[in-house]
Amino acid sequence: TQPLIEVKDLKKYFPITGGVFQRTVGHVKAVDGVSFSLNKGEALGLVGESGCGKSTTGRTVLRLLEKSGGSVHFKGTDLHSLNKKDLRAMRPKIQLVFQDPYSSLNPRIKVGEAIGEALVDHGIVSRSEVRDRVKEILSICGLAPYHIDRYPHEFSGGQRQRIGIARSLILKPEFMVLDEPVSALDVSIQAQIINLLTDLQEQNDLTYLFISHDLSVVEHLCNRVGVMYLGSMVEMASRDELFSNPLHPYTKALLSAVPVPDPTKKPERIVLQGDIPSPANPPSGCKFHTRCPFAKDICKQQIPEYKDAGSNHYVACHFAGEF
Ligand code: SF4
Ligand code: MG
Repeated sequence: TQPLIEVKDLKKYFPITGGVFQRTVGHVKAVDGVSFSLNKGEALGLVGESGCGKSTTGRTVLRLLEKSGGSVHFKGTDLHSLNKKDLRAMRPKIQLVFQDPYSSLNPRIKVGEAIGEALVDHGIVSRSEVRDRVKEILSICGLAPYHIDRYPHEFSGGQRQRIGIARSLILKPEFMVLDEPVSALDVSIQAQIINLLTDLQEQNDLTYLFISHDLSVVEHLCNRVGVMYLGSMVEMASRDELFSNPLHPYTKALLSAVPVPDPTKKPERIVLQGDIPSPANPPSGCKFHTRCPFAKDICKQQIPEYKDAGSNHYVACHFAGEF
């Protein structure tokens, strides 16, 4: 069957300008050849440290940013070759939820209007029906319908994220990119939002790309996990496989930093040396070699191939699983 989303060798480069004429002097390769596909109803977690290109990947997949190379197909349609009108018609189906919905809510507009405006803009329902639809979506997202006439500042962080989710969900999307949707929230509130997202996914057969720097959040929601480092995917596997049998040293390092309830099951701690190198000037060969405790000479020279190590477990390391 056809995947719902198919991303092939996706690239997003940002120009670096310099000199008096502001000429392009180089590029930041924020996303440098990322591939994955998602079947309907799947949730793929995309993890990595900040600056690794997760958010840029999400935005380029949705064509909120123009690609520099590669392709994105949604149900067989090449999103990056649609004209403006066709892309706009596609928008309700492919939605983004931000980390901080407050920053995208106008403080002077009642949340009911903010949630309903896209419905009217897209001509999905008439003005007279909007209020009923908004009340319905509010209660689906766990907010009492009387909140419809309140202003953004009257809500807590968790409630605002419910509003952010409601605003996307009301358009009946099929694919949602969730960019750090719980990172700004307290742990107990995080769990509530994760549960809401899980319920919504089951009820609506939604497909998620869930971006997070926090592996423990991803573990609850995602059936597959991809790990990014400096613009590249370094490992991807089913959740259970990735958590029980990580093959890339970077994944092992991320996992060893996650708190576990049973300390006897804790993997050996791998501490990364140094900072993330600049994506404008990434290291040669394996981009992780400057921080990898297992790096050998070949790692500085040769880019490791991203390949299937068996049972759809993809990894890019010359010595995958050897340590
Ligand atoms: Fe480490 Fe070398 Fe593997 Fe890169 S290729 S992760 S440097 S062992
Ligand atoms: Mg980000």
